[in-house]
Amino acid sequence: MSGAHFAFTDRWGGVSAAPYEELNLGGAVGDDPDAVRTNRELAAKSLGVDPARVVWMNQVHGAGVTVVDEPWGERPVPEVDAIVTARRGLTLAVLTADCVPVLLADPVAGVAAAAHAGRPGLVAGVVPAAVRAMTELGADPARIVARTGPAVCGRCYEVPEAMRAEVAAAEPAAHAETSWGTPAVDVSAGVHAQLERLGVRDREQTPVCTLESDDHFSYRRDRTTGRLAGYVWLD
Ligand SMILES: [Zn+2]
Repeated sequence: MSGAHFAFTDRWGGVSAAPYEELNLGGAVGDDPDAVRTNRELAAKSLGVDPARVVWMNQVHGAGVTVVDEPWGERPVPEVDAIVTARRGLTLAVLTADCVPVLLADPVAGVAAAAHAGRPGLVAGVVPAAVRAMTELGADPARIVARTGPAVCGRCYEVPEAMRAEVAAAEPAAHAETSWGTPAVDVSAGVHAQLERLGVRDREQTPVCTLESDDHFSYRRDRTTGRLAGYVWLD
């Protein structure tokens, strides 16, 4: 797996004040923009990547994918939930606070992707769309390494019965029950099932539930809160 790098942040080590303390990386959650800029620089430096070469998205809970080969610069940041690159040295980033951050890389082809998969993105198929875009750039699902990060777990993500049925109709593996016995959705399990069907076998899931962890931001727990980030890049 030489040359592929994956990283997920927790909430510590930044400069944001409550309720965004400390390492909020989201620019659209009400935090001080200067603090977010500083946090993004701190996070990049701790990973050894150039903060100016990190590419972010305007995430909208859809299945849109765009290919990128340079930072956006002065261009508007597109409203998509997955970005794909064939450019080594460019770092792709995804923001979450309960949704599943999905990082993908084929180190042989030199193709990477970052995707944001919440419940709507799971149903809409954002992760399969990202894998398709990667294969169009020369990636092979059998070589793709997939890492999913901290997200709300299936024992905590309570939804109405009808919503669980709707999600399970699209992805049966996401059918779940809360620890207190009510309908729930397991988005991470659904994402991994989608990847399995696409032939992506090298997969790991970070065993952290954001809602249960005091070290992570959780939208469902706190509503006004920061955003974690997942980063993927190829040497
Ligand atoms: Zn949980």
